[in-house]
Amino acid sequence: MKRRAFLQQTGLGLAGLTMGNMMNQSFAAVQSSKLLMPVLFVGHGSPMNAVEDSAFSRAWAAVAQPLPRPKMILSVSAHWETEGAQVTAMAKPRTIHDFYGFPDELFAVQYPAPGAPEFARRVRELLGKDVVALDQEWGLDHGTWSVLVRMYPKADIPVVQLSLDRRRTPAEHYALASRLAALRAEGVLVFCSGNIVHNLRLLEWGDRGFDWAEAFDLKLKALIEARDHAALVDYPKLGPDALRAIPTDEHYLPLLYALALRGPAEPLKFFTEKVTLGSISMRSCLVG
Ligand code: ZN
Repeated sequence: MKRRAFLQQTGLGLAGLTMGNMMNQSFAAVQSSKLLMPVLFVGHGSPMNAVEDSAFSRAWAAVAQPLPRPKMILSVSAHWETEGAQVTAMAKPRTIHDFYGFPDELFAVQYPAPGAPEFARRVRELLGKDVVALDQEWGLDHGTWSVLVRMYPKADIPVVQLSLDRRRTPAEHYALASRLAALRAEGVLVFCSGNIVHNLRLLEWGDRGFDWAEAFDLKLKALIEARDHAALVDYPKLGPDALRAIPTDEHYLPLLYALALRGPAEPLKFFTEKVTLGSISMRSCLVG
């Protein structure tokens, strides 16, 4: 897709903006701040990483160590899709064990981080009251807690989840995410959790990826490094393996939330880079 077409599809009242001034507007609110919280995209993979020692669980613990301590975490997880976006607004979100066939040890994990009803309203204010509803039912799903239990095991930082509105296009998700930029100057860690290559139908036990999955993961890596967000948003056009790598987009979309929050000159570092189980990319990146 040409850049102009991409921008026309972003919708949300942002259709007339170029990507450049969309980013400038997003970052205008935060330019004056000295401390911008980083943004994370984490490839979460199997929920077993919550209880098993692995290169991934160790990397998640390590990445949190040097970060400024967040006042708040806003999590965008692949595992919460809704009709119309929602943000968790309860004081005590439950730990949701949204999987089957795993050991009791995993079902026993609790992540009792507090919620933050006031902050949920702040998120709604930024995204639009007509865009996001306050939720009292959800909680923290494993896209959130299986990683945060490694990053912040004390569960003492409030966590709010933002759902993925399944009615929106990838371009609309990207545009929506850019409205969250001000939060980075307010001590909020925007935490995005998915997997950029994720095909559960083709899973194969083992610690390596299929050739096509590894090649597609590297193609996405190159586009991320080149800041070619228009191509990443229009991922179905990334060749014949795009549909195998991203058969449904819920695990891919959290990446777009992280990229939309990257400032024009901000660094980005990959802290895990591996395709495992045949068709799951564990690639994760830190922005800022
Ligand atoms: Zn998942």
